[in-house]
Amino acid sequence: MKILVLNSGSSSIKFQLFEMEDERVLASGLIEQIGEISGRATLKSSDAEPVTKVCGITDHQVGLEMMQEMLKEAGFGSFDAIGHRVVHGGEVFHVPTLIDDEVLQVIEGLSPLAPLHNPANAAGIRVAKSVNPTLPQVAVFDTAFHQTLPKHAYLYALPYELYEKADIRRYGFHGTSHAFVAQSAAEYLNQPPESLNLITLHLGNGASATAIKAGKSIDTSMGMTPLEGLVMGTRSGDLDPAILFYLARKYGMSIDELDQLLNKQSGLKGISGKNDLRSVTEAAASGDEQAKTAMAMMGYRIKKYIGAYTAALGRVDAIVFTGGIGEHSVEMRNLACEGLSDGLGIMLDPDKNSAYKRGVMELHSDQSRVKVLVVPTNEELEIARQTKMMITS
Ligand code: ADP
Repeated sequence: MKILVLNSGSSSIKFQLFEMEDERVLASGLIEQIGEISGRATLKSSDAEPVTKVCGITDHQVGLEMMQEMLKEAGFGSFDAIGHRVVHGGEVFHVPTLIDDEVLQVIEGLSPLAPLHNPANAAGIRVAKSVNPTLPQVAVFDTAFHQTLPKHAYLYALPYELYEKADIRRYGFHGTSHAFVAQSAAEYLNQPPESLNLITLHLGNGASATAIKAGKSIDTSMGMTPLEGLVMGTRSGDLDPAILFYLARKYGMSIDELDQLLNKQSGLKGISGKNDLRSVTEAAASGDEQAKTAMAMMGYRIKKYIGAYTAALGRVDAIVFTGGIGEHSVEMRNLACEGLSDGLGIMLDPDKNSAYKRGVMELHSDQSRVKVLVVPTNEELEIARQTKMMITS
């Protein structure tokens, strides 16, 4: 069975085609700068040189048709289903869902909760359905894994009617990644997910921590939007909301300016001027004090969440690092875990930490009560697996 996974953005469509017998990627690529004359479509496949076409891609429909044409030319003209990444499923979608017109309408209706993502995700679904009207298509939601949060974890301490009337609550994101690494960690540890308590740390440009009890998400650091929680590349994560009132009153900043400030100008970038942790790490190593502070802040925030989620879980079997930073930054894993051995029984082995290269590995020392793992994430494969499960069940 072949499954095509699509991640549709406002001006791009990322795709991967999987052979589900052995979960191999047959082809992958990106349609980018949709709507511009410099539009570009790239396809990579295992047995051929990458192909790039540069031409005006007027809209998602043209982009998708071009992608399918390129797949066909590469010998992958047919597949059995399409899995779509959808960022926000609100309280409606708890599981992957077979898409019909009504489901598509509901996804579009959730756009106020994710104005940058859901309209683009829905546009991708709409064109994929018009180009492939008879193919089963499944929506896999970033929020779905966190629909098991208990009420005391997902509610904000605001007037209750704001939850009832305006849907204001914690939804959480990166659910596909947290679910994937939790499952892979359980397989690696050779234990059923139901017997494990995990803290999963997805650390990329966006970053989130999740407390997983017996296979179910019980708390997560991103909130109603992906802004809350950890220090990220350009996002502030947690802060005193009164700072916004203060800035508005003192500088007359508008809502849009505040949104831009917190989402695009803050985090690592706000403190050090650089949003990419590799550059921040290099600057810190050459003595840049603000870069050192930015790294310390990110590490400290992760550590606080490890502490909080240890309390929420009661017992932690393993901490799982994933995402570009979690998988590659020796320094950030160290900052996040240092000083946790006496209180929480978390001891990173410095040699294992710096020697890590790839795959699922354990990085804790022999004395550590809590295991520390790196598990590379693969959100596209998880979407393909869930799509397969949905259409074969
Ligand atoms: P996204 O959230 O956009 O999917 P990734 O998961 O790829 O992003 O993570 C991107 C982050 O990972 C960047 O901050 C990048 O600097 C960091 N990163 C990637 N490789 C390394 C590395 N070798 N050392 C430190 N940080 C790294």
